[in-house]
Amino acid sequence: MLYGKWRPKGFAEVVGQDHIVRTLKNALATGQVAHAYLFSGPRGTGKTTTARILARAVNCQALRDGEPCNACGPCRAILGGSALDLIEMDAASNRGIDDVRELREKIAYAPSDLARKVYLLDEVHMLTEGAFNALLKTLEEPPPHAIFILATTDLHKVPATIISRCQRYDFHRVPNDAIVDRLAYICDQEGVAVPREGLLAIAVQSRGGLRDAITMLEQAIARYGAAPTVEDIRAALGQVHDPRVEGLVRALLESDLAAALDIARSVADDGLDIARFTRAAVDIVRQLLAAVLRDGSAPDIDDLLALARRRGDAVPLLAAALSELARADFRLDPASPIPLEIACATIILGPAVRPAAAPTVAALAPAATRPAPGASEPPGRAASGAGALSREERFARDLYEHCKMVNPSHAMWLNGSFEVLQMDGDELILGFQRKMPLEKVDTVCRTMVEQQAAAILGREVRLTVKLVEGTGQPKRAPRRGHLVEAVKSMGGRPVGKDS
Ligand SMILES: [Zn+2]
Repeated sequence: MLYGKWRPKGFAEVVGQDHIVRTLKNALATGQVAHAYLFSGPRGTGKTTTARILARAVNCQALRDGEPCNACGPCRAILGGSALDLIEMDAASNRGIDDVRELREKIAYAPSDLARKVYLLDEVHMLTEGAFNALLKTLEEPPPHAIFILATTDLHKVPATIISRCQRYDFHRVPNDAIVDRLAYICDQEGVAVPREGLLAIAVQSRGGLRDAITMLEQAIARYGAAPTVEDIRAALGQVHDPRVEGLVRALLESDLAAALDIARSVADDGLDIARFTRAAVDIVRQLLAAVLRDGSAPDIDDLLALARRRGDAVPLLAAALSELARADFRLDPASPIPLEIACATIILGPAVRPAAAPTVAALAPAATRPAPGASEPPGRAASGAGALSREERFARDLYEHCKMVNPSHAMWLNGSFEVLQMDGDELILGFQRKMPLEKVDTVCRTMVEQQAAAILGREVRLTVKLVEGTGQPKRAPRRGHLVEAVKSMGGRPVGKDS
């Protein structure tokens, strides 16, 4: 298993959690050891790995700058899994009061082979109320030789009384760059050659979970050998690459609306997932925009980059493409190419064809590219593309994407069939126009939806479903605040009476 083999052995190797590593090393180097630590964060971001390094560091006989030596007796015992005083417990399967009581009885005994007994409680939010109370008593009067490391993916399910007894560390999703670098290192060490674009595809799909990313890499290598192509990687990830994606972006760069519409139509005719196709185009446009802005390169799409650079208005055009493509809404009818066609027309022809263009949008053009009053507008102006998904739309999209990864056949009941009526507070209200998806989401999908919503929102929510009147139109009320943010994120600044 690659993940076990390349699990970091020291703090310095932990990926993407510099804020935590720095604090822990400094504390350890100056002899400050807490009695209880709480590691929270998404799955696969390094909580258990860091906990095991910490367990070695507090027992190491030759600690250097806060790093365990991995060579002394205690370090080797923990690395080899033979240390009796490192007690790892998965609270998901030992969640009751008896389990914690047993732990409390044992904790009174002095350590046998290490200087300090270390209790690592994984998924601690799964404990029952009784077990939490028992644990709290231990945390209130910890024996001097014991250290607790609690880990959880659901901080909001851990009682505040427990949290307040612990030194808390919040693990973040690992940035794509850091995942790619780590995967590249592992490939190098393993004698495997994977193109960087393939590693990036893995990183994106892993959503910041390094462990998942390494597992995906391993599966791709197992299936396609030691030199998989980008296409192999995408196939292993279930994202077969379609060259029409580049074709569409080329058409946009050449202002060739006929070609863009042909591609949109042919993708729909093939019965492909148009939303996914469009997201792939968004990815390419994003790469191009970044390369143009930073004067950088874009391997594998250098012909498109050259094309973009030949245009004087590359930045506003790409910015418009980015936001128009990102806001194309396929939920009403996932098989229809129309949202993609409208996006392409708006990008190429400018805001004139934009349905229900909000006057505020035009006033928010990135300042640098704003034409003088009266000047004819170049095609594909950025002004047309300032719209962004509303918070609810973004959440709806994320919820569907999350659920699709958990259970694709259940997630289809969310595909294009609901709107978010309320997402603040502890009640999540989803509106459905049809009874069938409503009932499915209310029953078989309920747990999945509640869990994934909690993962996205960072707090627990209770799902309520409602039947709503069909309007025949997806709800889209562009909100001013979002437009401003979208424009600012592209480097623009609001002009006019609000500036
Ligand atoms: Zn050591």
